[in-house]
Amino acid sequence: MDKIVPAPKSLKVVGGEKTAGRATDDGDGPIAPVADRPSRAEAEEAVRTLIKWAGDDPAREGLIDTPARVVRSYEEFFEGYAACPRDILERTFEETDGYDEIVLLRDIRFESHCEHHMAPIIGKAHVAYLPHRRIVGISKLARLVEVFARRLQIQEKLTAQIANTIDRVLEPKGVAVVIEAAHQCMTTRGVHKPGVVMVTSRMLGAFRDDPSTRREFLAIVGNLSSNGTPLS
Ligand SMILES: [Zn+2]
Repeated sequence: MDKIVPAPKSLKVVGGEKTAGRATDDGDGPIAPVADRPSRAEAEEAVRTLIKWAGDDPAREGLIDTPARVVRSYEEFFEGYAACPRDILERTFEETDGYDEIVLLRDIRFESHCEHHMAPIIGKAHVAYLPHRRIVGISKLARLVEVFARRLQIQEKLTAQIANTIDRVLEPKGVAVVIEAAHQCMTTRGVHKPGVVMVTSRMLGAFRDDPSTRREFLAIVGNLSSNGTPLS
């Protein structure tokens, strides 16, 4: 149960070797444990400091257990550091009976945190690939989204990492990832613009090069967005 509390300045990516001619984004392995990872007590003390910084008294009754709760929440928010995204896709099925059409998992809800403000990012991912020999259990695609989301992120990187990992591990004919998300660093602070949804996409292989495959995917996702469930 060695969960990794993020400490960005000393993070190091394990593995994530680059493959010539294919995706080259890093981050598809587990993040190495930081050498100077603070103890739980130190992490709780840091929360006490932030409570004082906000102007309140961490010793008062209502706040006394808050540091412990916050640290436990952080274990959940950031459990993606301890997982290996590549391993999730490792178990594949080769018996596809010749199925070679788009596999699309839509509306994968996720919760992440922006790496600039550590504020929540709430969104949906649509993940598609065009199989080439191997397919993967669809729940694995959702799990992949979750592992990358449970790290400090920016949406662009999250989108690229999901697509690149599928590309690298499954070696499909193509991958497409579209993410729609609301960033609470924009809605609850800063410019205060609720209702703004950021959309990012990454297309690889046939989704990038073959206009009809791309059109087919965008038509499905386009329909989704118009009648999809609203982001909270
Ligand atoms: Zn932010």
